[in-house]
Amino acid sequence: MSDRYDIAVIGSGPAGLEAAINAKIRNKNIIIFGNKDFSAKLVKAPKINNYLGFYNVTGKELKKHFEEHIKKMEIEITEERIDAIYAMGDYFALMVNQKTYEAKSIILATGMQYGKPIKGEEEFLGKGVGYCATCDAPLYKGKIVTIIGYNKEAEEEANYVSELASTLYYIPMYKGEYKLNENITVINDNPVEIVGDDRVNKLVMKNQTIETDGVFVLKDSISPSQLVPGLEMENEHIKVDRKMQTNIKNCYAAGDCTGKPYQYIKAAGEGQVAVLNAVENLS
Ligand SMILES: Cc1cc2nc3c(=O)[nH]c(=O)nc-3n(C[C@H](O)[C@H](O)[C@H](O)COP(=O)(O)OP(=O)(O)OC[C@H]3O[C@@H](n4cnc5c(N)ncnc54)[C@H](O)[C@@H]3O)c2cc1C
Repeated sequence: MSDRYDIAVIGSGPAGLEAAINAKIRNKNIIIFGNKDFSAKLVKAPKINNYLGFYNVTGKELKKHFEEHIKKMEIEITEERIDAIYAMGDYFALMVNQKTYEAKSIILATGMQYGKPIKGEEEFLGKGVGYCATCDAPLYKGKIVTIIGYNKEAEEEANYVSELASTLYYIPMYKGEYKLNENITVINDNPVEIVGDDRVNKLVMKNQTIETDGVFVLKDSISPSQLVPGLEMENEHIKVDRKMQTNIKNCYAAGDCTGKPYQYIKAAGEGQVAVLNAVENLS
């Protein structure tokens, strides 16, 4: 059985990082999931003038300050993408494909980069559709795999999977140069629908249809209601109260995922409120 953490923070943007440092100050056993950039939105910001104490910084500079801060507090980001979270009663099970983490409380700080699921994506999730290609790659040895990549990180996953799959199609949802192995076929088209019977067998795009055994949709984040079944949403945001508590006990949310304004300091503030309430509920 895996260790059971007091608090699991999902997302490494300002909301998640602020939650993590406050949990650490309160001496809780925490884990934070995210990536080494912390947040694509952070490193892309050209100039930030509204984060108190940091005038005229670039996103990259602010990221460096965040990095030093968490390093000094001995917080490490677990670079894994959580695919699903199930409320089990007195704890949550966090799934990264075959792996499971357990936590008594969770803070959702996943940002707001999900976009509408493709038709069939939710229906075939776990039946040929996945969100972590490298995790599931062994299942697709000698099979046809299609990766719909929303960011450059997806290219690394595609390269890895192409070593196992018989055919790998890469559908980039962004413009740029792609660093892909030669055996990968790039298709510049728009996915419309994932179709199949018991499992996925085709991907329909605007201009063509391909046969495929698996489709991986690699985006920065998936919709919170897909991530946590039963989570109440309000329009496209997670519904929270003033304690940043969601409709699920011990499940909190903070940052852009709870609603506008989409700003760093609002995200950080919410991360703090969420985690302090989570800590209070634990004791
Ligand atoms: C170009 C640009 C400029 C901006 N300029 C400013 C500005 O000047 N001032 C300002 O206040 N705001 C600015 N913003 C807005 C700001 O970036 C956001 O409000 C802020 O980043 C929100 O923080 P967050 O922690 O809620 O989410 P995010 O920063 O989006 O971080 C969420 C993180 O969680 C990760 N994640 C999501 N799902 C999972 C999962 N299942 N498992 C693991 N990790 C996951 C994501 O990959 C991401 O890294 C700007 C945004 C952009 C794009």
